[in-house]
Amino acid sequence: MDRDNLVNPVVKNYDRVEACVTAACDRSGRDRREVTLIAVSKTKPMEDIQALIDHGVTHFGENKVQEMCGKEEALPKGLSWHMIGHLQRNKVKYLMGKTCLIHSVDSLRLAQEIQKEAAKAGITCPVLMEINIGNEESKGGIEIHEAESLARQIAALSNVKLCGLMCIAPFVDDPEENRLHFRCMREKRDQLAALQIPGTDIRELSMGMTGDFEVAIEEGATLVRVGTAIFGERDYNI
Ligand SMILES: *Cc1c(COP(=O)(O)O)cnc(C)c1O
Repeated sequence: MDRDNLVNPVVKNYDRVEACVTAACDRSGRDRREVTLIAVSKTKPMEDIQALIDHGVTHFGENKVQEMCGKEEALPKGLSWHMIGHLQRNKVKYLMGKTCLIHSVDSLRLAQEIQKEAAKAGITCPVLMEINIGNEESKGGIEIHEAESLARQIAALSNVKLCGLMCIAPFVDDPEENRLHFRCMREKRDQLAALQIPGTDIRELSMGMTGDFEVAIEEGATLVRVGTAIFGERDYNI
């Protein structure tokens, strides 16, 4: 029997994506350790995630609170679960202590709810602000010109730590079309970091998905969120 047939295809896919991440770092003179590859496991079964865990993968991304909490409970401890989806305030309490980073903070009210629940849990919750970089109606996130004022408001919340910015770039055929959006994100991250707002530690840039993560890395991404290229197409009708 061919041993290769026993390997879950997601493991090979992961290695392929990992090689592309490394190549993009090399092309842009970056250290591979500056970029975290998050395997976006939403809608995907435990056995695919477990295969990656067995392969040494520790960073996973989910966009629904209930699904993330279920997987976090069922799978081994010590993994890093990233909340990358739109977050309703009434679900924040379930995430405390389970997520390593909330990528999708897009309002002061949401940040205040995270403050309340983090304080109750006795923790500090790391967050990113989501920027609607393409100014698309269909997408969440604040406008880029609002970033500084929201950053200052979040900075005042003692149990919320603002660590950087996140965006979901427009869906495009040619990833090069998003290069200027990613560059703009990086410039805003640098501007905010230079303000040295007390209580913040602004260094992360969560940007790049299956279609455009290589360009995102070339433009400075520190966290890339890759689903389809690792797990295959998602089926929402199951
Ligand atoms: C689903 C999702 C991803 C992964 O998208 P792919 O194109 O499958 O890589 C990344 N970021 C967010 C916020 C998502 O919801």
